[in-house]
Amino acid sequence: GKMFLPQVVKSARVMKKAVAYLEPFMEEEKRAAGLENAANRGKFLIATVKGDVHDIGKNIVGVVLQCNNYEVIDLGVMVSSEIILEEAEKQQVDMIGLSGLITPSLDEMVHVAREMKRKKMDIPLLIGGATTSAKHTAVKIAPAYDGPIVHVLDASRSVGVVEKLISDEHRDGFISENVAQQKKLVESYQERQQKLVPYTHALSRRFATDWKTVVIDKPSFIGARVLNDFPLAEIRPFIDWSPFFMTWELKGKYPKIFEDAVVGRQAKELFDDANRLIDQIIQDKLLTANAAYAFWPAGSDGDDVILYTDEQRNEELARFHFLRQQWERRGQKDFRSLSDYIAPVDSGRQDYIGGFVVTAGVGAEALVERFKSDHDDYHAIMVQAVADRFAEAFAELMHQRARRDWNYGVEEDFSNEDMIAEKYRGIRPAAGYPACPDHTEKQTLFKLLEAEKNTGVELTSSFAMSPGASVSGLYFGHPEARYFAVDRVTKDQIEAYAARKRMPVAEVERWLGPNLAYDPE
Ligand code: SAH
Repeated sequence: GKMFLPQVVKSARVMKKAVAYLEPFMEEEKRAAGLENAANRGKFLIATVKGDVHDIGKNIVGVVLQCNNYEVIDLGVMVSSEIILEEAEKQQVDMIGLSGLITPSLDEMVHVAREMKRKKMDIPLLIGGATTSAKHTAVKIAPAYDGPIVHVLDASRSVGVVEKLISDEHRDGFISENVAQQKKLVESYQERQQKLVPYTHALSRRFATDWKTVVIDKPSFIGARVLNDFPLAEIRPFIDWSPFFMTWELKGKYPKIFEDAVVGRQAKELFDDANRLIDQIIQDKLLTANAAYAFWPAGSDGDDVILYTDEQRNEELARFHFLRQQWERRGQKDFRSLSDYIAPVDSGRQDYIGGFVVTAGVGAEALVERFKSDHDDYHAIMVQAVADRFAEAFAELMHQRARRDWNYGVEEDFSNEDMIAEKYRGIRPAAGYPACPDHTEKQTLFKLLEAEKNTGVELTSSFAMSPGASVSGLYFGHPEARYFAVDRVTKDQIEAYAARKRMPVAEVERWLGPNLAYDPE
């Protein structure tokens, strides 16, 4: 029957464990027989680009390829283009695969492609990871390099793509088909007509609140609180399991997925394995969860939100900068910015904003290494999947706690399903997500919460959080606060935004590349 990704990864474990002790001998045998590469269909180098910590998808691809007899050189996460290309040349690999989770990585991938061209390389470059798309690959990355550049949608498709690129018979056909497809994607990108209004117009039609009457609650404390070594057993019931199955490329919602005729059994097995691992993690305290969160007196000033040092509101502590929607859609009445959910400084109302950083990933790396050194790739990946679930669950738990601290959530009574469906009042938007796509804003939040010291979470050069199993964001208590997508913005907004942030326009353009409705070059 059909092999599912988890089966492939699991069988890799069984296989590798079984033959691990033979490996030195096998190398010797192969050398002796002059068959060094006989078992290898090709050499594949994979890496997550500089500034990014995306790992699970990349690891799955690595295991799947190894299972199909490719030699995989995995350089890990946060790898600079220099190291990737040096290693690729030294090891004479047949292909490079780049992975990335956050938008700044797209820019880094373009950089790697340019460097490959400069070095006159011609091996295929594969692009994958949550932030990547076939369109972006076609429009931005492919033009930077003359060799084949292929976007790989998910791990289970990687083998098919790699097989074709290696095969003498299928290579040329596959490449020309890929080029033709990318040409179409570029055309549709160029034809895309999105109606964008000027920034000043969008500002004049902001999401309106009647500030005279809207409820604004006062948090029970101001400033930061830190929770170290939070009990994982208390976080566990908040886990949202549906994304867990997506990680393993099984489609379906928890718990209905167990009844699915096709993937049900596989899902149940994964779920049971995950829970066994969680039992062990809790019992042996293998992961540590930390959180820092805070409330600050706040008022909006245009599309900025000013934070004050205290209730007197005389002294500015910091500012968060937000972007505003400019795209005109059918049935839409306003152009939103997160700043709309905070009372303006001159409204006569006293408002508040909150912020948080949580992690459940302290200890994850060591645990992953333990399983890897035991050749147990399945559990190495499972640790990462479970740590991610714990981090998201901890964010949900902390949000509930914050709503109680904010007083308006004291009486709420939601089931876990309702909470996962975010039925409560207020939102916790995360920098880098559609309502606030600028990852650099995390700097301000991390400084305010002293997050590195208090939680052990660091920001990389691209403002990804490390350990990866971490979540951060802001708390908004406005009763009408909703998630939305800023999407495309025009140069007039970028210039205004850059001036407010005191950041050169070119730098803002670099961080917000995927949101620009114009070509900065
Ligand atoms: N239960 C999910 C929670 C993560 S996805 C899980 O366990 O994986 C939902 C979160 O993503 C939100 O709480 C918010 O922090 C973020 N988010 C979703 N849409 C967003 C948007 N448009 N803008 C900003 N943040 C968003």
